[in-house]
Amino acid sequence: MHIYSPVHIIQYEGFPAISVKRDDLIDPYISGNKWRKLKYILQDAAAKRKSHLVTFGGAYSNHMLATAAAAARFGYKATAFVRGEEVENEMLLLCKLFGMKLQFIDREHYLDKKALFDNYFKNDLSAYFIDEGGASEQAVRGCAEIIDELPETYDYIFCAAGTGTTAAGLLRGVNQKGLDTLIHVVPVLKGGQFIEREIEKYEPEKNRLFMHTDYHFGGYAKTQPVLIAFMKDFIAKTGLLIDQVYTAKLFYAIYDLAAKKRLKEHAKIMVLHSGGLMGLLGHKEKFFNPTEVINT
Ligand SMILES: *Cc1c(COP(=O)(O)O)cnc(C)c1O
Repeated sequence: MHIYSPVHIIQYEGFPAISVKRDDLIDPYISGNKWRKLKYILQDAAAKRKSHLVTFGGAYSNHMLATAAAAARFGYKATAFVRGEEVENEMLLLCKLFGMKLQFIDREHYLDKKALFDNYFKNDLSAYFIDEGGASEQAVRGCAEIIDELPETYDYIFCAAGTGTTAAGLLRGVNQKGLDTLIHVVPVLKGGQFIEREIEKYEPEKNRLFMHTDYHFGGYAKTQPVLIAFMKDFIAKTGLLIDQVYTAKLFYAIYDLAAKKRLKEHAKIMVLHSGGLMGLLGHKEKFFNPTEVINT
């Protein structure tokens, strides 16, 4: 299937122009890397004659929304186990509209996903297990294809990481093609060193891998005023939407590294915009801080 993910050049402040791979444009709901990850997962489900996708996520999970939208479009039933007590939000509304069944699960029981799947679906032969975030070997394969689509060879490719699956795919793509490109990974959660080990499980050859673990801003889905200020300024000056959970931390890292002269001068840089813009729907209060309104 043809997908739309062009490369755009952006210029921000006094920094050199960088290329952005617009995976966010693939689809608003089956967004960015989640489309890449689901591609071979859905093929596998179809090959095994499974018609019911069962997956897992937090209440703002981009993966859950992507699975719900893909299920609706390609004719699957879908169920998600949602971590924590029952809540209502914009992401879950979209999931429900796409016909996904939501099953809220307390944090303790959520930990054992295989057990949940077995408990609820041992009699449903059509049920197909998809791990949280879509993390899987199929997902790595799907993400490696990003490298095949690039119009030129870059010195650096930057991406955000939650599970590291996307980064593993990019690294695999570069290794398979024998490119000199270095893969720079920005974990969005605290203690991001573990992500390097996750990447290694899928792609052991990691000479071209660089981790930047200091840009988590307090942890997963956490923000600080400096990140929000950067995000507002960046969006207004480039026209490129980014979200506070993943891509704002990614772009902040790039400009911070550039300002500190930690990147080679004149390096050709490609950034993967991995989508996830529906995440903007959460945390609205951060963008409507009254003191900031008065100051502008
Ligand atoms: C899920 C997500 C990621 C994290 O991808 P991993 O493969 O889990 O590392 C990055 N960016 C966006 C926008 C996402 O939605």
